Amino acid sequence: MTSNNFDLKSLIRENILNVDPYLSAREEYNQGKNSIFLDANENSFGAPLSFYNSYNRYPDPLQKELKRKISEVKNIPSSKIFLGNGSDEIIDLIYRIFSRPKIDHSIICPPTYGMYEVSGKIHGVNVVKVFLTEEEYQLNLKQIEDKINQYSKIIFICSPNNPTGNDLKKQDIQKIINKFTGIVVLDEAYIDFSDQESFSLEIEKYPNLIVLQTLSKSWGLAGLRIGIAITSEKIIQWMNKIKYPYNISKISQKIAIQALDNKDLFFYYLKSILSERKYMEEALNKISIIQKVYPSSSNFLLVKVPFSSKNLYKYLIEKNIVVRDRSKIIFCNECLRITIGTHEENEYLIDQIKEYSENRV
Ligand code: PMP
Repeated sequence: MTSNNFDLKSLIRENILNVDPYLSAREEYNQGKNSIFLDANENSFGAPLSFYNSYNRYPDPLQKELKRKISEVKNIPSSKIFLGNGSDEIIDLIYRIFSRPKIDHSIICPPTYGMYEVSGKIHGVNVVKVFLTEEEYQLNLKQIEDKINQYSKIIFICSPNNPTGNDLKKQDIQKIINKFTGIVVLDEAYIDFSDQESFSLEIEKYPNLIVLQTLSKSWGLAGLRIGIAITSEKIIQWMNKIKYPYNISKISQKIAIQALDNKDLFFYYLKSILSERKYMEEALNKISIIQKVYPSSSNFLLVKVPFSSKNLYKYLIEKNIVVRDRSKIIFCNECLRITIGTHEENEYLIDQIKEYSENRV
């Protein structure tokens, strides 16, 4: 089977095919700014705020201006961009469009981002796990192929992967996209920290591919909740059909546009994170209780200690540092995931781990 056999309509759930979408007031009639808008039951007097604003009005349901900006920055046509309330909303929408509860399954490749499984379970969809390889954290192509059957609707791949931090091999990802006749979701939340090129730049080649990106990581806008799907116009049509009409707030759209205009500062922060990642890798590797620092193409490091990572986690909490204990996750025994902080934060963290290490000798 190759993606030449890909038939989008046949993958879409019947109830979704039959939905007549809600048409928001501004979609039906979106004329000049001077119009008198008495169509959406807004408060025409305004919001009780002391500064000039238009928050009494609903936001643009299709976020056209923000998409134009993202299109410019990422070099992807606006028509191939869908925006969600975080990538988490997009993951939820993908399940809703393609997966029939109790019938279909998705394939995920742990250790990986937890929401692919949580969201699947919320939708009553079976989630089939094909683990990454234990040493290298790479895709197990043969096992994935063995699990694929007529009920396989979505394969989730995360590269760079969370919580391991590494890139998955481009050829492996390509093979899956080309072989699978269902939907491949490639989550590139951390792609800006990687040397790999984004698949979004080749989206034309892959009709069954949905690339996920987000403004929460490299763009530093986690609080705004803006996730990005880059995919075909046809898939975007289905997403638009079933999303909540005003899924991204006006203030989020506005601030995101301002941030995207500030590319110099973005690159400055990005460079700083990458150089801090290098500093952290080197500094952690010099501490005797650190058994392994996994190679990272993201803004965090997966770090293994030879004994209870939980004790180190607790020790760091006492020192007011919160990291993520991933030791319960498959193939991440005794591992902590540490986000790259500012230089001062990183130095303080390194000092604390050194002290902890010395006290154990
Ligand atoms: N994908 C991955 C791989 C992530 O690690 C995260 C957040 N930790 C997300 C998606 C969610 O991103 P968002 O903030 O856009 O919902």
